[in-house]
Amino acid sequence: MPLHSLARPLLRGIAALNVAFTVAFANPAIACHGAQNIRLLEPVTVDEQQLAEFHAMPKLTVYAASAPPLTRFHEDTQSYSGISTDIFCFIANELGIDFTMLVNDSKTVHEKIRDVQTGDVDVFMPISRTAAREKLGLFTEPYYESYYAVLARHGSPFSIKSINDLANYKVGVVKGVALEHTLQAIVPESQLHSYDIATGDLMFQALREGAIDVAVYNETVFIEKQFHQELFDLEIIYTLENNPRAYRYYFSPSAEHKQLVQVTDQYLAVIDASASIHIHEGAQRQFFQRYEQQRDQQFWLELASVSGAVLAVGFYVAFLRYRRLSALLADQNSHIRQQQHALQAAYEKLEALSLTDSLTGLSNRRHFEQMLSYEYARNQRTASPLSLLFIDIDYFKSINDHFGHTVGDKYLCSVAKVLDNSTTRATDLAARYGGDEFLCLLPDTAAQNAVKVAERITHNIAELALPNPWTDPPQLTVSIGVITTVGGNPGIEKLMAHGDAQLYTAKKLGRNQVSSTVI
Ligand code: GH3
Ligand code: MG
Repeated sequence: MPLHSLARPLLRGIAALNVAFTVAFANPAIACHGAQNIRLLEPVTVDEQQLAEFHAMPKLTVYAASAPPLTRFHEDTQSYSGISTDIFCFIANELGIDFTMLVNDSKTVHEKIRDVQTGDVDVFMPISRTAAREKLGLFTEPYYESYYAVLARHGSPFSIKSINDLANYKVGVVKGVALEHTLQAIVPESQLHSYDIATGDLMFQALREGAIDVAVYNETVFIEKQFHQELFDLEIIYTLENNPRAYRYYFSPSAEHKQLVQVTDQYLAVIDASASIHIHEGAQRQFFQRYEQQRDQQFWLELASVSGAVLAVGFYVAFLRYRRLSALLADQNSHIRQQQHALQAAYEKLEALSLTDSLTGLSNRRHFEQMLSYEYARNQRTASPLSLLFIDIDYFKSINDHFGHTVGDKYLCSVAKVLDNSTTRATDLAARYGGDEFLCLLPDTAAQNAVKVAERITHNIAELALPNPWTDPPQLTVSIGVITTVGGNPGIEKLMAHGDAQLYTAKKLGRNQVSSTVI
């Protein structure tokens, strides 16, 4: 709703009189400098005698209802301002009347009106005249006009095209307002709900809860309240422009007040309050603007804090996700490491198997050849002596034939054990070369020491005392060929051939003996 339509002043012109004296106001509860916002369109004439009587009157006590832009109470300065107060100040100034605005927040509007009706307080502003009130007090002519508005819940489907349409709805109204009688004539009694003006908020509550469909309320006051109390779930759906609300000053009944009301009416008839209206409606506009600015700021602040919170939550979720993924990754890494270890172990086992003779557990031919090639190369570099023992069981075929292969296998294992035990150095290597033929690799071993090892072997084999009827003595024996190289570079093949030849010599010389040479 445009602000310019919030209020429409009633301005009238009449004759005037310049008052003979000015009045000094020492009234902290009213901003009486607002009187300068008022001017007269024509001078008002007031009888000197009358003025003297007014001047002699005891200080008037005045109540004001909070109904911007007519009167607004300022908490910070405990004072009032507004169109109503500006006009009242102006007229009181003109007439030399002293007055005080009563600041009494503990009293409801209803109670304040009653105080005026009983004469405890002299004046109440702003108010509109009702038949009931008129009997108990004096009203000036109106000086400002505003309208009743029909309020409904935001977006409600009710449609009002004239005041008569209210007959179709459950209507809320503030008890005692000027329009109440009109509404009583239109709206069935069961549908008309009155709310005490002091508890006007209950009516808004009833509207919100659907206890009533619509409410009739002062348009300008509602707009102010809408902002003050954030009643944005309610809205004006119709303005009763044919039933204006005319604001007046309300005096308690007395002869002096009657005079005062008459003269005040003379002033009201010629008052130009347009400057005051402009200022106070402007103030109302500023209030709305300030409210909207604050709401915008609050919105951005809330948005910023919500965004901050969302970001923080986002970071936290990302952090949790990161932690979960890290843990998963660590798990997987550990799993992979375990698998690597298992694979390594399997590989080592496989490799060991591939280098081991499955029957005897000694190194096999492959491993022997690897080690021979390594030691031969070292021998070539260092010229350190390298010896090989070629060991072959004597008449083993006959053992097999006589005792069977199982026994033959056991003999092979026994020989292997002897070889393993007889080659004591860490670098010595005993291997099964194939069938009943074994080889010992003796690095850094000179010929005579190699022969000693070979003799220890034949000795230890003899100690086994395994029967072999085809030998003399009739027990297991081996023949051993020993070959030693001291860095002459014969080549591996030649070395092997010479070793084999020494074994052959040992066999030829009668078996169970050692034959050796150096190349
Ligand atoms: P010599 O004194 O001339 O060496 O006579 P020998 O009978 O030992 O002759 P040879 O070395 O030619 O015979 C080897 C025999 O070893 C032949 C084969 O039956 C047997 N043999 C080879 N491998 C195995 C095995 O793994 N287990 C068993 N029980 N016998 C095997
Ligand atoms: Mg043999």
